[in-house]
Amino acid sequence: MKNIHLDKRTAKDIDQHIDRVHRDLGYTDGMIMLPQVRELLRLDLHYYQLDDPKLLDEVVHKLRVGAKQVINRPGLLLDAVRKFDLNALFIPDGKRILIDGRVPDLKKRWYESHEVAHSLIPWHAEYMLGDDKETLSQSCHQFIEAEANYGSGRLLFPHNNFTEARLSSEISIDHVRKLAKHFGNTITSTLWRCVEQSEHAIFAAVGEHPKHYCEGNSKIEYFVRSEKFEQQFQNVCEEDIWGWKQSYCGYNKSGPLGCSEIQVADIDGELQVLLMESFSNSHNVLTLGCWVRPQPIQVFF
Ligand SMILES: [Zn+2]
Repeated sequence: MKNIHLDKRTAKDIDQHIDRVHRDLGYTDGMIMLPQVRELLRLDLHYYQLDDPKLLDEVVHKLRVGAKQVINRPGLLLDAVRKFDLNALFIPDGKRILIDGRVPDLKKRWYESHEVAHSLIPWHAEYMLGDDKETLSQSCHQFIEAEANYGSGRLLFPHNNFTEARLSSEISIDHVRKLAKHFGNTITSTLWRCVEQSEHAIFAAVGEHPKHYCEGNSKIEYFVRSEKFEQQFQNVCEEDIWGWKQSYCGYNKSGPLGCSEIQVADIDGELQVLLMESFSNSHNVLTLGCWVRPQPIQVFF
């Protein structure tokens, strides 16, 4: 799956809502504390378990109190959760965030801030559960999700502080890990944010370990490109990255897996050099690729 870049106007609109939260929190630096964000925005958080119908019923029952939508049609919530295979959702009536209790703790932070972003983007309220007429089409759903992911990134990586920290050193997986620690977020979400914000032609890939591949899994789950990379290397696809990873990654199951320079033709057919680097967090392999220079034309006599 590739990332979607929002148009400038939408991004700016979302920025304003998020920047206001940072101002109201009195944010200075470091990790954003989500309980404080919830308190500020008067949001309510619940956990549910899809494989435990009693628990979900209980959540739905609680929602009957404040949420008109769910009072009228309790099945709506269950349908939405099942249909989209959701790990988390936001119920505008009653301002409730629901998160699947089985989601690993580190990921809960990302899911929660994603739902906070839904709650902050005014035009999302009417889409959240849909109704009879307005069932979400797949492409509409993708845009809404891309907007929430953008808002979530912006919330957890406050713009000015993150930009300054990001530019304080050359981009590398080591630098990404330091940034992740400083802002209290996962390495994956930090890598994603670094690439999306970059002015250079760079990409990130999150996927399987090339030397310990489980058949049936998606080899490259996410392929995140900076705007410049998307323009210059539109021809590069997930299969290419998988092939390159296979050529240089070591067999160790966690930690740094290696790095290598790769030659690749850009969209104009000019040969370019990318520096690739991979790291395993023992669940996924994270790969960073950066354009370094054009490949000099070789003349043979
Ligand atoms: Zn969402």
